[in-house]
Formats: sequence, C-alpha cells, structure tokens
Amino acid sequence: MTQRYHIWTEGCQMNVADSQKLAAGLDRFGWQATDGPEGADLVVLNTCVVRDKSEQRAISHLGRLKAMKRKGQGDFKIVVMGCMVGPKDDELRKRFPYVDHFARPQAFEGIFENLGLSDDTGGEFWPTAFPTPTGPTAYVPVIHGCDKFCTYCIVPYRRGRETSRPMDEIVQEVAHMVHGGVREVTLLGQTVEAYGLDFPEQRPDLGDLMAAMHDLPNLERIRFLTSYPKNMTRKIIEAVRDLPRVTEFFNIPVQHGSDPVLERMRRGYTLSEFHEKVDLIRSLMPEASITTDIIVGFCGETESEFQDTLRLLEEVRFDKVHVAMYSPRPGTIAARKMEDDVPLEVKKERLHAIEELEERISTQLNLRLEGTDQEILVEGRRESRWYGRTRSNKLVHFVGETQIGDVVTVHIDRATAWSLQGTTAADALPLVL
Ligand code: SAM
Ligand code: SF4
Repeated sequence: MTQRYHIWTEGCQMNVADSQKLAAGLDRFGWQATDGPEGADLVVLNTCVVRDKSEQRAISHLGRLKAMKRKGQGDFKIVVMGCMVGPKDDELRKRFPYVDHFARPQAFEGIFENLGLSDDTGGEFWPTAFPTPTGPTAYVPVIHGCDKFCTYCIVPYRRGRETSRPMDEIVQEVAHMVHGGVREVTLLGQTVEAYGLDFPEQRPDLGDLMAAMHDLPNLERIRFLTSYPKNMTRKIIEAVRDLPRVTEFFNIPVQHGSDPVLERMRRGYTLSEFHEKVDLIRSLMPEASITTDIIVGFCGETESEFQDTLRLLEEVRFDKVHVAMYSPRPGTIAARKMEDDVPLEVKKERLHAIEELEERISTQLNLRLEGTDQEILVEGRRESRWYGRTRSNKLVHFVGETQIGDVVTVHIDRATAWSLQGTTAADALPLVL
C-alpha cells in the first residue's frame, strides 16, 4: 500500500527548501504527500526556534499530534527536524518521548534510516534528490550554517558552521529546477555573501556562483538572501549590477540603528559601515530595492537608542522592514549574560512605532510606481486575479491574459504599502488625453 507523508514547515526559506528536499527523497520511494496528518504514515515537523513564539507553535502542534494518536485518530510516525534539534537531543527525547526521530537541519539520512529506507536516498549531497519544482520560483540553499554568533541568535547553535555547497552541484540543481519549469531561483544562506569563504583553496564568491548559472536557458531571474553587511564586497555588488538576470533586490538586516546596541548584539559592523554598503548599492543601482530586519527591545535598549532606529529608517527609507520584539533564546550569549529588561508593553509600543513609520515609507516608495510598467513573473492566480513579483520583489495583483511562469509587462494602477495592483500592458486601457 502507498505510504503517505505530511510535512509541516515553520520558519525561514531555508526550512521551506529543506522540506522540499525531504519530500523529493520520499517521493523517490513512491510515498505520497498529504495535506494534513489524517491518514498519514509519517508526520514531519520542520521547526523554527528563532523566537519563542515559533517554538511554542511547534510544541502545540506536537501536542495535537500526540492527542490524535491517543484518540486513535492517527497511526503515524512523528519526526521533528529543523532548528528545534541541537547537537544533543537527550532533553528533547525526555520531553517528547512519543516522537520517533529527531533530525538536525539537513540531516535527512537519519530520517530515511528511521523509516527503514536505506537506499542512497537524498540529502544535501546527493544530486539525485534535488527537490521537485512546485512552481515558477524555487529556493536553493548555497551555504548552510552561520559563524557570526550574534548575541541574541540561536541559529549558529542549531545550524552549525558556515558550509558552502560545491558550485557545480548548485548549478546542477538550478538546471534541474529550470528543466522542471522554474524561472526564478533564490540562492539562500544566513549570510549568503559568505559563500565560498570556507573552501580550502580557490574561493569562488557569490558573484562567481551567479555568473556560473546565469546563462542557463529559460532561467529568467536570480535572487539571493540574506545579506550580511560585512560579507558584502564591492565585487559581489558589481556582479549584481553586471549580470542582467540577477535582480536588484537586497535583504540586508541591520537589526538596530544605534552603534552601542549593534555592539551588544555583536553584529560586527557599525552604522557608518552599513551606510557605506547601502550607498554603494544605490550609487551602482539607483533603482535597487532594499529591505531589512529590525529587533526592538533588545537588552538594555533605551528610549533614545530606540529613537536612533526610527531615525535610521527615515534616513535609509527601506522598501520593507521585518520587525520583531527581542525574544531571549536559551543558550545564546544574550540569554546567558544580559538582562531582558525592556518590558513587554514597551517592546510592543516600539514594534508598532516601527510598523507605522514603515507603512508610511513603503506607501510613499510604492506610490512612485503608480503609472509605470513593471516586469512581472507570474506566480499564480487567486480570486480571479493573477499575482507575481516585480524584479524588485514587490507583490503585484493584476488582471489580463497570461499564465503561470510567464514574464509579462504590467501597468501599475494602484499602490499600497503592501502590494501593487495593475493590468497586463496589452489589456491596459489606452490613456485618454
Ligand atoms: N542571518 C540574518 C541576519 O544576519 O540577520 C537573519 C537570520 S535570523 C534567523 C532572521 C531574523 O530573526 C533576524 O533578522 C532577526 O531580526 C530575527 N531574530 C533572530 N533572533 C531573534 C531573537 N532572539 N529575538 C527576536 N528576533 C530574532
Ligand atoms: Fe543569526 Fe547573526 Fe547568523 Fe544572522 S548573522 S543567522 S542573526 S547569528
């Protein structure tokens, strides 16, 4: 009988990519994906613990699965993978004895072994288990782990040291994706510009990697995430400018607008160094879109330090900001050595202040696109409208004749802070003068 699996994914794009890779491995054994745990033989939770909230979501999901099994509503194995699983899993085993297997991020082999599937199945370094494309866009991890050890962050403890994948294997994976209908790839890393630094000898950088895949037929766009200011070299930024299929879109988390806080976070750069990178990008690509991540309420954050962050957002005018309240993560340097002393109410106020300011800035920036024509890669259709993204990664809903995977010109009729609306240029009403 066909075995069925269900994968629940929480967290970042890297987890999405890992889940797809695991699914590809299971598919190779003839297993079938299901939408929910009902009727599944295997349920995998691919977890995120970057903030307490995401960890709690995984824990309550586990509770629901346990209850289903107890009530006889399911007879499945449970696998927990992702950032909830550190190098030692004894604590987890004690706490969740009903879980059949714990797998660290990308440790796919153990999952297959646990299921009695011992063939050369999948996992990062088996090109035969490249993920199966599920649409016109795909994530491709190029460097795993992180060496930076920002004081608030759990990632290096869970994902290990920076480890780049061989360039030819990545290019092969992208070619496989493109063959399956993918038109846009996003190259992933926690610090994606660190790509290649860990290779012993010849060290291709992110620019070389993008150049190596650039001319694959039918590949329309190459994106990359997440930028770490210190690893962004002029050479890489120039490669973004010079390679036409690489989009002018940068996600560069700054995290804070005050140097003393950046130091407490141990981010490894000053604000003036951050500004230098942004200025360089904008001088080479004036139309570049830049987004960022901000943490509010980090240990010891004073009102005036918080005001510095607001000022930074006014100065840089990011296209979008992901803002989070500081959440202490056990085991990190901040959780061990600093006090989480900003009250929750203050954190919430600061979060809302950032959201309000950014809504105003994003609206202003997006309004400038009204009346322009934008190149859109069509990703899908919802409620009788198509949707896709501009090269600068802005979401666009539009009407007109097209199909998924097409690259079309869309005339932008309306803009809000969150998205743009338009009409395919061929269907746009002629301007009445
Ligand atoms: N590597 C990227 C960087 O250098 O910022 C981001 C990776 S991190 C997993 C994703 C985002 O989660 C961060 O940008 C940060 O804003 C947020 N984050 C990480 N640890 C956090 C914590 N302890 N509390 C709140 N937000 C956190
Ligand atoms: Fe976490 Fe800092 Fe590494 Fe980003 S660079 S993953 S925030 S330790």
